[in-house]
Amino acid sequence: MDNVTQLKTYLADIVHLQHAAALLGWDQQVNMPHKGAPARAEQLATLSRLAHEQFISEKTGRLLENAEADVADLDADHDNAALVRVVRHDYNLATRVPTALVEELARTTTLAHEIWTKAREAADFNQFEDALARIIDLKRQQAEALGYEDRPYDALLDQYEPQMKTADVERLFDELRAELVPFVAQIFERLDAVDDAPIRQRFEVDKQEAFGLKVLKRIGYDFERGRQDRSVHPFTTEFSINDVRITTRFEEDWLPSALFGSIHEGGHAMYEQGCNPTYEGTFLAGGTSLGIHESQSRLWENVVGRSRAFWGVFYGDLQALFPAQLQDVPMEAFYRAINAVSRSLIRVEADEVTYNLHIMLRFELENALLEGKLAVHDVRDAWNDKMHDYLGVTPPDDGKHGVLQDVHWSSGLVGYFPTYSLGNFLSVQFWEQAVHDVPSIPEDIQRGEFGSLLSWLRENIHRHGRKYFPAELTERVTGGPIQIAPFMRYLKAKYTDIYGL
Ligand code: ZN
Repeated sequence: MDNVTQLKTYLADIVHLQHAAALLGWDQQVNMPHKGAPARAEQLATLSRLAHEQFISEKTGRLLENAEADVADLDADHDNAALVRVVRHDYNLATRVPTALVEELARTTTLAHEIWTKAREAADFNQFEDALARIIDLKRQQAEALGYEDRPYDALLDQYEPQMKTADVERLFDELRAELVPFVAQIFERLDAVDDAPIRQRFEVDKQEAFGLKVLKRIGYDFERGRQDRSVHPFTTEFSINDVRITTRFEEDWLPSALFGSIHEGGHAMYEQGCNPTYEGTFLAGGTSLGIHESQSRLWENVVGRSRAFWGVFYGDLQALFPAQLQDVPMEAFYRAINAVSRSLIRVEADEVTYNLHIMLRFELENALLEGKLAVHDVRDAWNDKMHDYLGVTPPDDGKHGVLQDVHWSSGLVGYFPTYSLGNFLSVQFWEQAVHDVPSIPEDIQRGEFGSLLSWLRENIHRHGRKYFPAELTERVTGGPIQIAPFMRYLKAKYTDIYGL
């Protein structure tokens, strides 16, 4: 057996353990009775530990070095060279942080999660302050252990968006801020121009579910290799290229929750389903970064799912399903309702226009915290000031409307937020490229044909799995680096029209 095959064979066990753990996690959120939680936590801990120990072992290091020698002369584009590159990236991430620090992070964030839950409920940042201070301190240590050239944030960001630098994100956000903030202010002057009452009625859940499934089938999510269930927080998970599952949640009086949630997760799932089948069971399967993943979910959810063309196809069916609610609502009024902009205090409820302002705020605070420019004690005030600057609102509380709204920090996920915005920017950049390459795509969608778009995504993005790092993939697909311009072009055209600016 050659060295690369030996490495693959050895790592296959780890992939199997990870998928078994993922399946237990899926079951926990979808089926498990409440009291099964403590036992499930133990089972998951065992599987995760086995996978982690096997991965960070000296044997992995030895096999990896041998494989690196084997692929040294191969073209960088060769699958084996890519596999070895990806394993090296993951191996460095997994081995550079001392076990004691990994354990301390796990312990601290488990406790912090409890503290955060209570503090959020009490809407009192002071209760969470000490826990956050410990987490930031540990994240600093983790960044030092992982290593970085310029900024500690680089090391943390790299875990979610490999090779992306903090300075790159800052440059993108600087550009975005300059264009977006005045544009948002213009829309805020005219918020009354759009009424979202049509989507704030009672919509029976079983009918919502039937409609969502129909849409998912039509856009190309393969139910022979997937399924949709219900969970408290929607997510996508995979145990194989041929078993990629999504979940959704229903709100009876808020149609977009399940509808756009399903399309969003469907976008993530189609990415995983579209991976080159020969990557099955290797480290090359899956999405290459969170940002690229989010570009796929946002493309289907927003660029396609919130367009006039899309509703030209589906609105008649939706009206037929909900005649009492929608028969007197013209399609144009529905289209405007699903695209309504608001001064939302809550990120997960934010519209396409204001969403990235919420991310910029978090990114700026995280960097300032990590570099010691902002004290944890001052985070709430800094949060509220930035909300006022960017969105013209001041949170009325520290809880679900304020600084404690997101789960990320309590879970130790620092450096994660920017990937949401990177996904938003790339969703439009990829869309523009797809339409440039296959000009019939917009007309195809108007006819209810989504295959030409999905084929383009498969060919250019999905099939590569993790073969290319995100910047390399973006360059290959669009001929250049990630940019703000396509996203701003899209926003300005769409919302100038909707708000009559
Ligand atoms: Zn997503």
